[in-house]
Amino acid sequence: MKYISTRGQTEHKLFSEVLLMGLAPDGGLMLPEKYPVISETMLANWRNLSYKNLAFEIISLFATDIPAEDLHDIVERTYTEEVFGTPEITPVRTLKDGIKIQALSNGPTLAFKDMAMQFLGNMFEYVLNKENKQLNILGATSGDTGSAAEYALRGKKGVNVFMLSPEGKMSAFQRAQMFSLQDENIVNIAVEGMFDDCQDIVKAVQNDHAFKEKYHIGTVNSINWGRIVAQVVYYFAGYFRATENNSQQVSFCVPSGNFGNVCAGHIAKQMGLPINRLIVATNENDVLDQFFKTGEYRPRSTEHTYVTSSPSMDISKASNFERFIFDLMQRDDNEIQVLWAEVGTGKGFNLHFMLPEIREKYGFVSGKSTHVDRLTTIRQVYESDGELIDPHTADGVKVARELREDDEIIICLETALAAKFDATIHEAVGEVVIPRPTKLDGLEDLPQRVQVVPNNAEIVKDLIREKLD
Ligand SMILES: *Cc1c(COP(=O)(O)O)cnc(C)c1O
Repeated sequence: MKYISTRGQTEHKLFSEVLLMGLAPDGGLMLPEKYPVISETMLANWRNLSYKNLAFEIISLFATDIPAEDLHDIVERTYTEEVFGTPEITPVRTLKDGIKIQALSNGPTLAFKDMAMQFLGNMFEYVLNKENKQLNILGATSGDTGSAAEYALRGKKGVNVFMLSPEGKMSAFQRAQMFSLQDENIVNIAVEGMFDDCQDIVKAVQNDHAFKEKYHIGTVNSINWGRIVAQVVYYFAGYFRATENNSQQVSFCVPSGNFGNVCAGHIAKQMGLPINRLIVATNENDVLDQFFKTGEYRPRSTEHTYVTSSPSMDISKASNFERFIFDLMQRDDNEIQVLWAEVGTGKGFNLHFMLPEIREKYGFVSGKSTHVDRLTTIRQVYESDGELIDPHTADGVKVARELREDDEIIICLETALAAKFDATIHEAVGEVVIPRPTKLDGLEDLPQRVQVVPNNAEIVKDLIREKLD
């Protein structure tokens, strides 16, 4: 399988090459030349596979330059009960009102990003080792992404992680999660500034091309193709758990920010998984909801992004959205260049004439949830089902309830656990005990490793040199 860029100006690549890439050199995103199509026989054969074996079958259709036994070994080591808490890996349960919840957040950092990051960590180590290369990941995090990357890459050969976070701005739990890692290859750097300052430092270092090349600086952000492909797997797994046979259809409701999660759902549908609708749930940052309702895509700047109680969805420029629009535009890379030139000027674009196709052919619809909706939903689920769902998952459940049609099976993706967001949970239901996986007992008491630095890119570069020279 060959990979192409949505902007059409990048030479074809193989899976192991796109794995280590961020943006394509032409500014686009990498995608397979075409999606593999699943026959009815394949779908029937896959119904009773374990998560590992299903992951192997699906990923091997995309990772055609990785020898089968190596890929088998990697998924075998990745999707274990030990790491993800249950033998099913992503079990599906049903709430009293009939909405189904697929648990994607039982990995090490209690958020769905582990599903893909754990795979990527093992894949990185494999590819780097094979090519005798080194990679130094430099990232900025306000919480979730950074910890998922660190837990995926800790102790891996050939990789170091330098993770910037705003000093004193993360929760005690998030700090403990990241800073308690004692692995030599994980370097936590707390910057005296805000999250945006951390991101500016990453950009400044990336723009120092000589430094970037000398120290093999890379990233793992949400546009990474390896993450998307690993996410395709759980749409299949969820479908099989929620249905009795392959003549049934399901809809997925996905709490969304960068459109990475639901993009994997779109690909699963294009491959032939019987998905009825893909329901995009946003919080107050509703750029995507606006698009799916009106056809107008108008990304906003950081200053116009609200800080909400579902913080991992506080995004106003969905970095993976271009992948879907590329498919919608019949993969016309000229059209993508034109549309994203409009995005670049801050104007955005309007595709209202395509809304019927977006809904009927691609199955996309959307809804929005606010702080009050989130609290109400958390409270309602607690009262009816006696369980606590996290604020992001609550956004999904709120939208799913609102849009559900008669007899529609809706699977809401659980993107984090309540234990990560105790303040909002307490605001919703009062001072209840929030269950926390036993493996995290005493987390906040562990010794922490972090270096605090002024808001200055040169000082961060010095730290990197010191570690690597
Ligand atoms: C990252 C994240 C999301 C948003 O996922 P996207 O792939 O960016 O759309 C939703 N919920 C949680 C808890 C997350 O960490």
